Amino acid sequence: MDIKEHIRQIPDFPTPGILFYDISTLLADADAWQVTMGRLANAVRSHQPDVLVGIESRGFLVAAPLALKLGCGFVMARKRGKLPGKTVRYEYSLEYGTDIIEMQEDAIAPGQRVVVLDDLLATGGTMAAAVALSRQMGAEVTGAACIIELSFLGGRNKLDIPVTSVVAYD
Ligand code: IMP
Repeated sequence: MDIKEHIRQIPDFPTPGILFYDISTLLADADAWQVTMGRLANAVRSHQPDVLVGIESRGFLVAAPLALKLGCGFVMARKRGKLPGKTVRYEYSLEYGTDIIEMQEDAIAPGQRVVVLDDLLATGGTMAAAVALSRQMGAEVTGAACIIELSFLGGRNKLDIPVTSVVAYD
C-alpha cells in the first residue's frame, strides 16, 4: 500500500508559503492507519524499547497506540507548562527564538531504553530536543521514528541514533 496516497498536502498552512503535510486523512482511513502502524511497529520493535516518548501533539497519536501494540510504556513530551507536578525541561533553538519541551521528572527511569516518536521529521530540531531531554533523564535512547520524513531538510543529520520513517519526501 502506498501510504503517501493517504497524506494530504495543504498549501499555505499555517502561514503563506508553507506546504503542510496533513495526517488527518491517514488517521481517518482504518486500513491505511493499520498498515502504517504495522510498519512502524516492525521498525521500532527492533530497538527493544521499554518506553516510547511521544512529542506533543501529533506524536501522541503515533506513540500511544504503538506502545500498546508493543507492550511498552508511553511518556508525553509536552510544551512548556502543560504537565502537572515536577518536570524536567530542555530548551532548544527555533528559526526565530527558542522553545521548551518538558517531561515529568519520574517519567523515565535511568537506564530505560527509549524510542522517540513524532508524526513528522522536518529540520530535526524537535526530535533532537526530545532525544536530549530523554537522555537528561538517564534514558538510553535507541532510536527515533516518524510517519513522514522531509528528507530534503536533512533532519536525520541532527540525530545520532537510527531514524525510521514510513514515507519520505526528497
Ligand atoms: P522540526 O523540528 O523542524 O523537525 O519540525 C517537526 C515538528 O513540526 C513536528 O513536531 C511536526 O509535528 C511539526 N511539523 C512541521 N511541519 C509539519 C507538517 O508539514 N505537517 C505536520 N507537522 C509538521
